[in-house]
Amino acid sequence: MVHQDATRCLKCKNALCQKHCPIITDVPKIMELYLNGDVQSAQQLLFANNPFSAICSLVCDHQRQCYGNCVLNFKKEPIHFYEIEQELSLPYLKEVHFKHNDVTKKKVAIVGSGPAGISCAMFLSDEGYDVTIYEANDKIGGVLTYGIPDFRLSKELVKQYARILNEKGVKIRLNCMIGTSISLSALKAEHDAIIIAVGTQKAKMMHIPNETRYNVHYAIDYLKSPQSFDLGKKVIVLGGGNVAMDACRMAKKQGYDTYVYYRKTFEDMPANKIEVEEALAEGVKFATFEVPIAITNDGMIFAKGENIIDEHGRKQTKVIENTEHHVACDSVIVAVSQTLRLDFPELKLNKWQFYETKQGHMTSMDNVFVCGDAYLGAKTVVAAVADAKKTVEEVKEHING
Ligand SMILES: Cc1cc2nc3c(=O)[nH]c(=O)nc-3n(C[C@H](O)[C@H](O)[C@H](O)COP(=O)(O)OP(=O)(O)OC[C@H]3O[C@@H](n4cnc5c(N)ncnc54)[C@H](O)[C@@H]3O)c2cc1C
Repeated sequence: MVHQDATRCLKCKNALCQKHCPIITDVPKIMELYLNGDVQSAQQLLFANNPFSAICSLVCDHQRQCYGNCVLNFKKEPIHFYEIEQELSLPYLKEVHFKHNDVTKKKVAIVGSGPAGISCAMFLSDEGYDVTIYEANDKIGGVLTYGIPDFRLSKELVKQYARILNEKGVKIRLNCMIGTSISLSALKAEHDAIIIAVGTQKAKMMHIPNETRYNVHYAIDYLKSPQSFDLGKKVIVLGGGNVAMDACRMAKKQGYDTYVYYRKTFEDMPANKIEVEEALAEGVKFATFEVPIAITNDGMIFAKGENIIDEHGRKQTKVIENTEHHVACDSVIVAVSQTLRLDFPELKLNKWQFYETKQGHMTSMDNVFVCGDAYLGAKTVVAAVADAKKTVEEVKEHING
């Protein structure tokens, strides 16, 4: 049955939904194919443009992208394109099969198998490159496997990528952390190019007193294996992004009395709006304008904050004097962003402690490229895939002279 919304789509010439999609999904064309009953072409087009279309239809921030920018918002009736994308891409991902790609071109090593690494591998393999992925974990998928919880993204979907890569002839070496036994230089000696797609694996510290206490955890560590944590009764999660929302919802589902303390307002939270709404609906309690000051033996000290605009026109939180107060809790989960873990001493760094790039994505080492979150900073799945597209073009250009 055709999704009701599709018939209402205006198929705008200058489609804002497409313009605000980081991977520029051709929404009008997809809609046209879908309405003409050419489901297979619509599915193929979505996958060819974005191999993570199925995943993006579930985890993208649709409010800030296609849905929120649909021209029909002015009538308060935007098209739910992501639901149509789900209808098309979810079955496609599970059912599609590929034939083994012939290897006719050079050897590329990809370090990391998150959305960026997998996308690079698929794009390059489809063009005949000899691709091997090196992954530190025992499963591929990166954050999709070891971060975003199952209640939001089924691991069965992520597993399809192992099958698809295998069908395409991409080789995968699991449990292999580059930068330990195999150095980047050793890998480089045996490949024509390397793409570093290692994500942002290191949680950022808050640098407040007692952050090293036994009951303070980083959300990305907690989300890897929540069942291995004993958080007591009451948990405070610090942060307002997707990672904080996944951590608080997971803690609530595990039966903890869960609070989110955030330094700004609900509107300032970078998390997908739907995630915040779901956390609220599930019983997570929120406190805003709460600035963490210190961790104590039995909880935390916060001060009240307020939003101010700094001299560069940016919104900042200012701590209001004499508003410090104690909040009791048993555990604290910190989710205030991630950064790059520096596994490759061979590479030069820039002032943000990311790998320096001289031309586009190429690092200080010839034909070694950096891609995805490791290049952009902690961003999104769709941004990682879009970045993979750009990186692959640069790799091809460089290694073919
Ligand atoms: C909890 C959480 C929730 C999120 N929710 C959303 C969401 O709802 N929507 C959204 O769009 N985005 C979300 N994101 C962000 C999104 O998942 C990332 O932007 C995306 O996964 C980045 O892809 P990547 O391939 O660059 O890196 P990653 O997915 O981080 O993958 C990097 C891979 O590299 C491997 N690796 C690292 N170092 C080495 C090494 N030295 N040798 C070998 N392998 C190595 C890692 O094991 C990992 O598998 C979330 C992130 C987190 C942490």
